[in-house]
Amino acid sequence: MGTAGARFMVAKQLAASGGLYLEDGDTRLALDPGPGAIVQYTKRKVDPGRLSGIVLSHRHLDHAGDVNVMIEAMTDGGFKQRGKLFCPADALDEDPVVLRYLRGFPQEIVELKPETTYRVGSIEFTTTPAHRHNAETYGFRFGGRRLGWVTDTEYYPELAQQHQAEVMVIHTVLRERRPLPHLSLDDAEAIIAEARPRLAILTHFGMTMWRAKPWELAAQLSEKTGVEVKAARDGMTVEL
Ligand SMILES: [Zn+2]
Repeated sequence: MGTAGARFMVAKQLAASGGLYLEDGDTRLALDPGPGAIVQYTKRKVDPGRLSGIVLSHRHLDHAGDVNVMIEAMTDGGFKQRGKLFCPADALDEDPVVLRYLRGFPQEIVELKPETTYRVGSIEFTTTPAHRHNAETYGFRFGGRRLGWVTDTEYYPELAQQHQAEVMVIHTVLRERRPLPHLSLDDAEAIIAEARPRLAILTHFGMTMWRAKPWELAAQLSEKTGVEVKAARDGMTVEL
């Protein structure tokens, strides 16, 4: 539902910022519905009224900007209590990103904990240990090790093993390493080289990645690592 990451890409909407959408039979999950997610879902004919749940990796605006409107949409404006929201505790506590007036709308609000497995319908997912980021943040593995989702974090050596899966989606914000709590292209390469998934997908591009043409960088990474690496495009679909 979108490949933009970080504030400038989101502010300029050079790419959409609606996050990821996962579907397994009747189970449907919205992951990190950033600003404009509701527009992307409706534009792409995915009815948010049929979502089984919403998952926030962390409370930052580019991951959670549309969480409230998505909760309303999932619950038919609050008239049907349904669906689950999964988020770190700090999305609910101080300076909450989930508005209090609609917290009774979902069937359940689950505060994510590290290294814990959750189930929604037919989808099971497990959190990683907390990422190194400036908010409480988790990475995820879905369906055992079918899909690994490397969300925002500073690089650390255990990332590859913690997210290792058949297909790995990696939030690659920075073209060059910088003293910021975000992954760079070199970090993505290190993760891919160690985890060796069947397919790695780069997404959540910041401005420096975007300007460097992510699809070209992905092709170079494929060459270097011998692993198939793709740059995500808005609206891209992948069969797992
Ligand atoms: Zn963040």
